[in-house]
Amino acid sequence: MTGGRRTRILILGGGFGGLYTAMALERLLKRDSSAEIALVNKENYLVFQPMLPEIISGSIGILDTITPIRRLCPNTNLYTRTIESIDLKRRRIRAAGSFGSQQSDLGYDHLVIALGNVTSMASQPGLCEYALPFKNLGDALTLRNHIIHVLEEADIERDADVRRTLLTFVVAGGGFSGVEAVAELNDFVRAGATGFRNINPAEIRVVLLHAGPLILPELPEGLARFAQRLLAKRGVEIRLDTRLRGATAGAALLEGGEHIGTRTLVTTVPSAPNPLVAALPCRMERGRIVVDEYLAVPEYPGVWAVGDCAWALDGTSGQPCPPTAQHAVRQARRVAENIVATLRNQPRRAFAFQALGKMGSLGHHAAVAEIFGLKLSGFLAWWLWRTIYLMKLPGLDRKIRVATDWALDLILPPDIVQLRTEKSPGIRREHFEPGEIIFRAGDRGDWLYIVTDGEVELVQHEGGEAGAPPARLGPGQVFGELALVRDQARVATARSSTSVDVIAVGRESFQTVLANFPPLRGLFEELIMMRSAPAGERLIASAESNRGGDPR
Ligand SMILES: Cc1cc2nc3c(=O)[nH]c(=O)nc-3n(C[C@H](O)[C@H](O)[C@H](O)COP(=O)(O)OP(=O)(O)OC[C@H]3O[C@@H](n4cnc5c(N)ncnc54)[C@H](O)[C@@H]3O)c2cc1C
Repeated sequence: MTGGRRTRILILGGGFGGLYTAMALERLLKRDSSAEIALVNKENYLVFQPMLPEIISGSIGILDTITPIRRLCPNTNLYTRTIESIDLKRRRIRAAGSFGSQQSDLGYDHLVIALGNVTSMASQPGLCEYALPFKNLGDALTLRNHIIHVLEEADIERDADVRRTLLTFVVAGGGFSGVEAVAELNDFVRAGATGFRNINPAEIRVVLLHAGPLILPELPEGLARFAQRLLAKRGVEIRLDTRLRGATAGAALLEGGEHIGTRTLVTTVPSAPNPLVAALPCRMERGRIVVDEYLAVPEYPGVWAVGDCAWALDGTSGQPCPPTAQHAVRQARRVAENIVATLRNQPRRAFAFQALGKMGSLGHHAAVAEIFGLKLSGFLAWWLWRTIYLMKLPGLDRKIRVATDWALDLILPPDIVQLRTEKSPGIRREHFEPGEIIFRAGDRGDWLYIVTDGEVELVQHEGGEAGAPPARLGPGQVFGELALVRDQARVATARSSTSVDVIAVGRESFQTVLANFPPLRGLFEELIMMRSAPAGERLIASAESNRGGDPR
């Protein structure tokens, strides 16, 4: 009890760190009503990330890798909400409400921070817009649907260059998650393509980019080389010492200037601190909260941190704990014991854990593993991988479902059903490298573009002025309006003459505004007339508009 009321233990994050803390606390406080446990998480389920790559191929069902938190922690108050701020001085956190309900303002006596890390794409141009992250269930589902979508398009595409781009798949990051993702993607694309009449398997290209000289640097060299050889044999092109610099709609941009034409770029690097964690006034090391040997944050009594967001040293080796689920789970159990020991004025225990081993699946009945110093590869490692992770998957019902999925997967063909659940965004940012085609004459008018940076040239075709010099547009200018306002195909080709950033407004959103706001239609009709006028008149109009300010 604290001040005559129950002691409040608040856990932030329902991943391996947060959820296993709640589970351990429930067990330790079973007959103790002096404390209450609350957990705040964006989702109401735990994602079993080691099995996430198998969602890509559909070898396990979408919902089978996740377990409802309420079932695992029936005595914890769950807030399925997004945390907006953490105030360590006032000992309160705030989480946004939804459906018009009020936000949660929660106080605590003990706080466990287990918010993990995030995939950061902001540092490289075009990644936010075009690269697909691979961290949670939504990412895996989006990637699977995207792959089926490009296969559908490739099957009916006549232009060989466009088809090649559609059938090229690039994964950046040669660590565990990148390798497991590329292995599943490769298996799925090659097996799935057999269900399409016009896709030639020889046109499929799967590329793994890795910044170092050998993939899976966490593993002994022999196992990493085995993984590399096996993936190459299965058709994965491994590009070592190669860094991703950015992305455009149709290419992965590599450092050194090379472009790989692709419509599918997956990035498993880089990870960055959760913004909530980065904003905390605690001591940080590489974006992680520095905790003491008891996993407590020394500057703030009653505050603890575990998992990927904590910088904890292993008590035996003195080395920082790597960001893995096995460490997060062990830390969670120890932090729960230490919180209970603090409540009962008992001595706390230091955290020490030596990883039992490392395993990575290579898809299609192969894996690599190092367990208790024993190195295994191939089928035996794969069998071990499946057995161990099946045992670790929380919930008996999930275990049964996954085991059934695996058994069926041995005999059934890959499922190529595409679930289209996402709404296309009405407005988005796009980035183009110099010389890229933004749209071609004859294309359907699907987006209106506003240049925010760089220069775009518009080359007129049929219906436009033959032989007219290209129009050049810079920041603040708009293009692509004709096809949307007149509901016709593009009559010009737009190409970036420099590196270009634009805001793209979707056809439906644009036409909704146009239909309901007549002055805007007038403005665009005027712009179209000015642009289609002969060069001399256009010059006068442009000079006039410059005098009176740009009418656009
Ligand atoms: C594809 C993939 C495969 C992996 N495979 C393995 C493996 O085989 N073995 C292994 O040991 N490790 C593996 N890992 C690493 C492992 O998953 C992580 O180390 C582990 O999940 C860390 O646990 P955590 O609780 O610290 O963070 P997380 O599991 O990331 O949990 C953080 C939680 O905080 C929530 N959260 C974040 N911000 C907010 C907010 N603002 N409001 C509310 N909630 C929020 C998130 O929704 C999430 O539920 C893998 C990771 C990935 C991505």
